[in-house]
Amino acid sequence: MISFYEARERVLAGITPVTDEEMVPVTQALGRVLARAIVAPFHVPNHDNSAMDGYAVRIDDLDAVAETRLRVVAYAPAGTAPLSSLVAGTAARIMTGSPVPSGCNAVVMQEEVHRDGDWVVIPPGQKINQHIRPAGEDIVQGSTVLPSGRRLTPADLGIISSLGMTQVSVKRRIRAAILSTGNEIVPAGQPLPPGCVHDSNRINLIGCLTALGSEIMDLGLVRDRHQEITAALRRGGEAADALISSGGVSEGDLDLVKMVVSELGSVVFWKVAMKPGKPQAYGRLGQAAFFGLPGNPVSSMVVFLLMVRPALLRLMGALPEPDHRLQLPIKGGWHKRHDRMEFLRGRVHFDPAGAWVESSGGQGSGMLSGMAHANAFVALPEEARQIADGELVDVWLMRYD
Ligand code: AMP
Ligand code: MG
Repeated sequence: MISFYEARERVLAGITPVTDEEMVPVTQALGRVLARAIVAPFHVPNHDNSAMDGYAVRIDDLDAVAETRLRVVAYAPAGTAPLSSLVAGTAARIMTGSPVPSGCNAVVMQEEVHRDGDWVVIPPGQKINQHIRPAGEDIVQGSTVLPSGRRLTPADLGIISSLGMTQVSVKRRIRAAILSTGNEIVPAGQPLPPGCVHDSNRINLIGCLTALGSEIMDLGLVRDRHQEITAALRRGGEAADALISSGGVSEGDLDLVKMVVSELGSVVFWKVAMKPGKPQAYGRLGQAAFFGLPGNPVSSMVVFLLMVRPALLRLMGALPEPDHRLQLPIKGGWHKRHDRMEFLRGRVHFDPAGAWVESSGGQGSGMLSGMAHANAFVALPEEARQIADGELVDVWLMRYD
């Protein structure tokens, strides 16, 4: 049995990111992985502009200690080209976002002035450059705004559009083939015979893969029969980048998945010192990375999130994501009875007086409700045993996207 960290390193080491690229409209690029860095073709904003509705002035025209009367000779609404420079002793009416007339070096808020016909009265105390947003203050021309490998967020789409681009080059989507195994597993929507359970693993997986933006090849539900498992896995190995099964990887009489994978491809490891998720298999089959998730629904999701998801992100060509980890006191403590690494399903309470974590519900590996209420894992190292109420524990915030 290998450690959690060693298993994860081996998985990541075996993954080669996809290289194919495609152009997609920016409006459809959410969550896609940038194939080429976005470099700014011009400054944003591309002209010095006003941050306020008011009056553009030259600071040298103003009296430092008394009011100054300036003649308003120009009008600069938003969307107009920059005005040419003003004659000394004059001001321009200016709106938020309008280019600042050349030579002007301050904007005075309209709330501060007194308007008198064609004249405006400016109080003392104005500062050079006030209320002016200089060209390039957000993005400098020629700078790399978004690196390749970035998974695009809504703000990113806005940035790309602000640079005038309507299309963006992204990595192709990965394709994941999925299947559930088990003679006792029945699809939802069909009557449930005695001794059977509905298939939840494949549906959890569809959710997880959709959140990652993967294409999904659904190989359905397969009996615990050598021939059926062989046919399904072979199809997946031929067509997908990743092949993900659930069930049939422990040591029961009908746990055939591992055997079939070793016949059709290779198994790299199949037991990891973690709880839940001890029985799990990783290998290669055809052109696909193979992940054999445990059958127990919670174990299956935990292994997906901690082991498979980072591998799929790498396969997608995404940059490694920063850890969302912190230490928090655990309410109620915990008693750990084994020497595997344990991932409790936890709920972080973002209390303004101090965040804390507690168990999110039943911790059995078949209890999906505890998973559904969780927003974090409490990661307990192999050597941990008795965790006291209020003790600091490592918390890994859960991410699906
Ligand atoms: P296995 O790893 O195949 O021995 O399955 C372990 C446990 O998980 C058994 O109680 C199975 O009934 C259950 N299980 C396996 N596959 C699924 C599934 N797709 N949906 C829900 N429960 C499952
Ligand atoms: Mg089974």
